[in-house]
Amino acid sequence: MAMLPILHYPDPRLRNPALPVAGVDEAIRQLLDDMLETMYAAPGIGLAAPQVNVSKRVIVVDISDERNAPLYFVNPEITLRTGVEEMEEGCLSVPTIYEPVQRAARIQVRALGRDGQAYEMAADGLLAVCIQHEVDHLDGKLFVDYLSELKRRRIRRKLDKQRRKTL
Ligand code: ZN
Repeated sequence: MAMLPILHYPDPRLRNPALPVAGVDEAIRQLLDDMLETMYAAPGIGLAAPQVNVSKRVIVVDISDERNAPLYFVNPEITLRTGVEEMEEGCLSVPTIYEPVQRAARIQVRALGRDGQAYEMAADGLLAVCIQHEVDHLDGKLFVDYLSELKRRRIRRKLDKQRRKTL
């Protein structure tokens, strides 16, 4: 396994729509394992391949406290969204920023698993929010896109300042 570097907003590579995966082979399984290791180390509860500069429709998620219940989504498709929920979100690509975002409260998602088998699951609460956030990444969308332009400008300034401090 290997740790992968995470791209940070406003890196334009985060905006490229990711391409569907033909099937789950050894290379995709390796990518899933590397992404999971990277997500656990960050630490985060979800990671999408475009965040590690891989333009593929691949996501890993683990919202468990024990960090031992990974979920794998290859070519995920949200087939149903119902209700509205507002939760404070963060993102490994937008470090230290947390803002409330409105999303569907319940979803139905279809994907291929790590074994390459198609499956479908229902999700609500934090898991539903997390999956929607990660699927957005596959379409080049970030949670800050749901905020006002004024807020986004403030966030970019704050992140700029942080970067200058670490240089
Ligand atoms: Zn994110």
